[in-house]
Amino acid sequence: MRIFDLSQPVTDGGPNCPAHPPVQLARIADHPADGWRMELVHFASHTGTHLDAPLHKLADGVSIDAFPLEAFAGRALVAHFNGLEADHPIGPEDLAAKLPDQLAGGIVLLNTGWGARRARSEEWLHHSPFLSPAGAEWLVNRGVKGIGIDHYSIGGSRDPDNTRTHEIVLGAGVWVVEDLCFREGWREASEDAVFQALPLHMPGLSGTPCRAVFVRYP
Ligand SMILES: [Zn+2]
Repeated sequence: MRIFDLSQPVTDGGPNCPAHPPVQLARIADHPADGWRMELVHFASHTGTHLDAPLHKLADGVSIDAFPLEAFAGRALVAHFNGLEADHPIGPEDLAAKLPDQLAGGIVLLNTGWGARRARSEEWLHHSPFLSPAGAEWLVNRGVKGIGIDHYSIGGSRDPDNTRTHEIVLGAGVWVVEDLCFREGWREASEDAVFQALPLHMPGLSGTPCRAVFVRYP
């Protein structure tokens, strides 16, 4: 079996959505004095590679535990966009150029290339490419069950687009995985592989961190 990691690291003070609290990983016990090492982790549930449930944007939406775990696994199609410019809205034309029309029940991952630029920089935090509301409609209308992107927000960082894209996707009962990273080798790893991104077992939450991977069995 081979497992290829599509996740970003969560580190103390690491890059995250600027609207969320900074990531704090504090050592609260250590060797030899305490006889154990332990950390207190302090960050928003939507930090690092994580899932969004409908409740994240919709007051009457379901929480992450409403989905069976099988919902977060399956064949994934990667829409690979080379060299997308800052603030580029990924719309129906972009998607149609990279994806087949038959997507029902599938998982679509948007590879903008910006996962490799992840940093606490003005550009990465505020000017990523994003799925436009029209692009969101395009995917939802084709019956996908999940959508991923290699940035902390699938709708970018500005309204009204960010709000609309989240409303369209989550309003259709489609989960989102954000802050993916398509490292060197992702294409080969995706062949004959199953994508999975399982949420933590935290009932009632609007989203949780996850480990997103391609799994390939021999
Ligand atoms: Zn999120």
